[in-house]
Amino acid sequence: MLIVQKYGGTSVGSLERIKAVARRVAESVQAGAKVAVVVSAMSGETDRLIGMAGSLCQRPDEREMDLLLSSGERVSAALTALALKELGVKAMSFTGRQTGIMTDKAHTRAKIEKITATRVKKALDSGSVAVIAGFQGVTEDEDVTTLGRGGSDLTAVALAAALEADLCEIYTDVEGVYTTDPNIVPEARKMEKISYDEMLELASLGAKVLQTRSVEFAKKYSVPLVVKSSFNNAPGTYIVKEDKDMEKVVVSGVTYDKNQSKLTVLGVPDKPGIAGRLFSEIAGAGLVVDMIVQNISPDGRSTDISFTTPRTDSPKGLDIIKKFASEHGARGVDLKDDISKVSIVGVGMRTHSGVASKMFETLAAHNINIMMISTSEIKVSCVIESKYTELAVRVLHEAFGLEKAA
Ligand code: ADP
Ligand code: ASP
Ligand code: MG
Repeated sequence: MLIVQKYGGTSVGSLERIKAVARRVAESVQAGAKVAVVVSAMSGETDRLIGMAGSLCQRPDEREMDLLLSSGERVSAALTALALKELGVKAMSFTGRQTGIMTDKAHTRAKIEKITATRVKKALDSGSVAVIAGFQGVTEDEDVTTLGRGGSDLTAVALAAALEADLCEIYTDVEGVYTTDPNIVPEARKMEKISYDEMLELASLGAKVLQTRSVEFAKKYSVPLVVKSSFNNAPGTYIVKEDKDMEKVVVSGVTYDKNQSKLTVLGVPDKPGIAGRLFSEIAGAGLVVDMIVQNISPDGRSTDISFTTPRTDSPKGLDIIKKFASEHGARGVDLKDDISKVSIVGVGMRTHSGVASKMFETLAAHNINIMMISTSEIKVSCVIESKYTELAVRVLHEAFGLEKAA
């Protein structure tokens, strides 16, 4: 039996917790498993490093950022290996590069292209636990890269695929995947299992319990995946292929994302090709656009075009739309950071109607104004004022009957 276990930031947040992780890994080893452990930076460390860079410069160079940020996971990996040795368990720690995690050159959000894992396999074969620094890889030019926030999940899943592991266990600070963030809604219910597609939507719409790309990867390579607590032995949530029962549940989860911004170009001449030009410039700069709304301005001759991007991209987005506005004779631009996106997700939406209207009515009943809407086969998202986020999540969770049984 070969298991990949990933421990997140809170789970390795102190030396005491690292010792507890080592004890848990030792138990799996004693039970006869080969174990590869992937660790995150100690909680708060990645943010601390980003803060330091931000104090030195307004827009830090991304190549240097990657070298900086990769250090957090290295510290955890080395400390975890030391804690294991102290328990008499053979262990070796490895960086992303030593693990042979090859990525593209997209610094701070690199994609994994290949994992050789030669040294990790050797360590495992010799009876050692391999402890791998998550969240990082290396380009063919030997530059260190990182895999985007929450990227240690991806390291774990991709490594599990490369090693053909029997199971990938994601250990975190909650007991599994819930119907919504249990830290916001205490009534949230833990799911026994969830389909890859639903998990993918939940993750991409803000449920940070798993990084979106890690779920994509797990789906593509059918990696057996479970999310569990690192603090107790409660059964976790399995991420599995969709089965027939799942369609019976209309809405299986509610998510929120406070890290979005809304950008608007005001009063652009209403003529063919304008939207195409705007969004090709935005895509050319590598910005990810989520929702788009275009409205005719009160004068009837121009339009306002609004779209959302991740907050981290909004300064770049603002530069682009300012330039675009002056080149195309638009009236001006606007940036709103105090927005958030709330979403409902469920494969059952494919076969049930009236789901979106129930969401809109529920928000309206609590005087929450909807600024933008987007839908797909299995989700509905609304952009609202960010101060109403928690309220919206709670009332939607209740309206769709997601609480645990009393
Ligand atoms: P780690 O540091 O272990 O990677 P994260 O902080 O990235 O942990 O993810 C775990 C957190 O995800 C939980 O503490 C919880 O607040 C949040 N979360 C958001 N939505 C959900 C959900 N639907 N189910 C479980 N946790 C969720
Ligand atoms: N330490 C990184 C982050 O905070 C990666 C991770 O924890 O998965 O985003
Ligand atoms: Mg995480």
